[in-house]
Amino acid sequence: MLIVQKYGGTSVGSIERIRNVARRCLAAQRQGHQVVVIVSAMSGETNRLLGLAKQISEIPDERELDVIASTGEQVSVGLVALAIHAEGGKAMSLLGHQVRVITDSAFARARIQEIDAQAITDALADGKIAVVAGFQGVDREGNITTLGRGGSDTSGVAVAAALKADVCEIYTDVDGVYTADPNVVPNARKVGRISYEEMLELASLGAKVLQIRSVEFGMKFGVPIHVRSSFNDNEGTWVVPEEKAMESVVVSGVTATKDEAKITMHGISDQAGIQAMVLRPLAAAGIVVDVIVQAYVEGGRTNFTFTLPASDLVRAKDLLVRQCGHLCPPDQIKTESGLSKVSVVGVGMRSHAGVALKMFEILAKENIAVQLIATSEIKISCVIDAKYAELAVRALHDGFALDKA
Ligand code: ADP
Ligand code: ASP
Ligand code: MG
Repeated sequence: MLIVQKYGGTSVGSIERIRNVARRCLAAQRQGHQVVVIVSAMSGETNRLLGLAKQISEIPDERELDVIASTGEQVSVGLVALAIHAEGGKAMSLLGHQVRVITDSAFARARIQEIDAQAITDALADGKIAVVAGFQGVDREGNITTLGRGGSDTSGVAVAAALKADVCEIYTDVDGVYTADPNVVPNARKVGRISYEEMLELASLGAKVLQIRSVEFGMKFGVPIHVRSSFNDNEGTWVVPEEKAMESVVVSGVTATKDEAKITMHGISDQAGIQAMVLRPLAAAGIVVDVIVQAYVEGGRTNFTFTLPASDLVRAKDLLVRQCGHLCPPDQIKTESGLSKVSVVGVGMRSHAGVALKMFEILAKENIAVQLIATSEIKISCVIDAKYAELAVRALHDGFALDKA
């Protein structure tokens, strides 16, 4: 088999752990497999690097930020390759531009466009383990880019897709994908198999165990993803196409996002096209808005509310005041941060009634007020005060009895 193994920051967090990674990939190679390893920066390193940049500039140039942030992975691949040599194996490190992982030029959140895997195949043909830097790529002008936080997952699955690998193993610090973040909900249960669709929702709604784009790649190219721990040999969680049996589970996971904010434009005219006028300047500035709610007030006036990342709030308000002042006086543009979006996800929701009702009842019992609601076929999300996010996640996990199979 051709196996791609991706090791996250904790799994390469010390020299001893790097030796452990080296032994694991050599063990797979000894079983007769071809092995490609994708590694993240050592835990804490990417934050440290971004912190250095912030000391020089509050809003650093993103091209330079990527030059800096990508070095964490450069150190890890070198160390992992050395550790494999030290164990008597053959290995070669490869950076994003050496592979080449070609991306667009959206620094700090680049998208992979193409992977030319020749350098990896050559290394494999030489009997080497290819040790590839996660998180980084190169644009068509030769600039170094990075794929957004948690982007090594995407590097792993994208390389697996390009090589038509049999599996992409994501090694992390938990045993697999759980019904909720096991660090928040102690009795969360490991899920044996989960559909790409559910995993997409969980990843986009706060379960950082996989970066959302890695799941998109897995789904698009049919790469089986196996999420497991680098500290034991337990079977982890398989992310796979939906299976019939999955429909019988109404809710398969609970998640929460942090650092959400909302903006309400009070009493704007309900004329056609008003929503586009409000959101256009934000889109042009690359600000992603999420839950959107419009409520009719009276006399042709509506309140228009949407959520966005708290980190974009000041910039967004400023844009609206300057560019949409004719639609809504500045004192009627109200903002609030410190919000969280809690969600329940499950493909079984498509065929079961009463899930939203149950969610609202559980939150009501905890006296948690719901500010905004959004649904899709397989998820229900409620925006609440972030103070109560963990309480809400635990209550929903208990209320839907997710600790029981
Ligand atoms: P890595 O450094 O290996 O990429 P991450 O920290 O990015 O690891 O992701 C693993 C973490 O994801 C876990 O430690 C856990 O706290 C968190 N997590 C959040 N939701 C879930 C979930 N539903 N199942 C498993 N882990 C989750
Ligand atoms: N090192 C990068 C980060 O911390 C990428 C990753 O770990 O996946 O976001
Ligand atoms: Mg991660």
